[in-house]
Amino acid sequence: MTGPFLVRLAFAEDGTPAGHYPADVAAPQLSVLDLGATRGDGIFETISLGNGHLQALEPHLARFAYSAAMLDLPTPDTAHWRAAIVEVAAHLVDSAGVPVDEGFVKIVMTRGVEGGSGSLIPGATAPTGWALAAVAPDHTPARRNGIRVVLLDRGYRHDIAQTSPWLLAGAKTLSYAINRGVYREAARRGADDALFVSSDGYLLEGAVSNLVLTRGQTLLTPRTDLGILAGTTQADIFTWASGRGFATEYALLTVDDLAGADAAWLVSSGRHAAPIRAIDGVGRAIDAELTAEINVYLHARTE
Ligand code: PLP
Repeated sequence: MTGPFLVRLAFAEDGTPAGHYPADVAAPQLSVLDLGATRGDGIFETISLGNGHLQALEPHLARFAYSAAMLDLPTPDTAHWRAAIVEVAAHLVDSAGVPVDEGFVKIVMTRGVEGGSGSLIPGATAPTGWALAAVAPDHTPARRNGIRVVLLDRGYRHDIAQTSPWLLAGAKTLSYAINRGVYREAARRGADDALFVSSDGYLLEGAVSNLVLTRGQTLLTPRTDLGILAGTTQADIFTWASGRGFATEYALLTVDDLAGADAAWLVSSGRHAAPIRAIDGVGRAIDAELTAEINVYLHARTE
């Protein structure tokens, strides 16, 4: 097994599904007029794979549909996308057919080729879609040793999703230059990751992750109406926490809440729970035992 592996989704001109087919990941696949490439106009999801099991697949597909609706893209046909995901994920096995320990499937849907027929004249276009499966990078150091985080002002108020829905806050769009740029800013400040804060002082989300913290026997996360992505990993952690006797809460959290938390993590499908060990250069305690417990649970998920 080498990989990555690619499956293309086919669509009729009106956007209705027309099957899927394997494609060569090393061969050119996209038109230079594809609106995903030229404007970042599209959506994506990254679904983790633990021992061959696609994790939180249905919540990812639901969020994909939510993002599509926010961008006025065609409603993704769930069965079409699920079939492509399952097919491409099945490639992630070793020579004996044993699934890899950790992998991921990234799905992308763009608004399609500008003008439809390559003319640059705006018109109806069928979306472009694909599913790519690959072995996950090794996230052990971040999970075990923790990450240093800087707080970065996002420049938006906490109620941006309500006041300015056209900014598409909370949709998982392909326009991720900012989400990558903040890693470079974090590195310039001697850190590993960033946590966005609203212009009026509320904790939001990481570059590609959600914040979870503990206060006594309660797990807290920023409310999902703050123009942030509703995290599938955070939701699964809350399900686990409820079964484990923790209370869970979606809250308006401040920088002081983070400083006063017993433990805090940035959580996401790929890296799972990465404990925060420093904020703006100030060290903070991590809970190694609880972190390990959460990550064992996340890795063992079979759906
Ligand atoms: N917030 C943002 C901006 C993200 O890009 C991601 C995932 O990539 C998350 C949060 C975490 O979401 P999930 O746990 O579903 O991977």
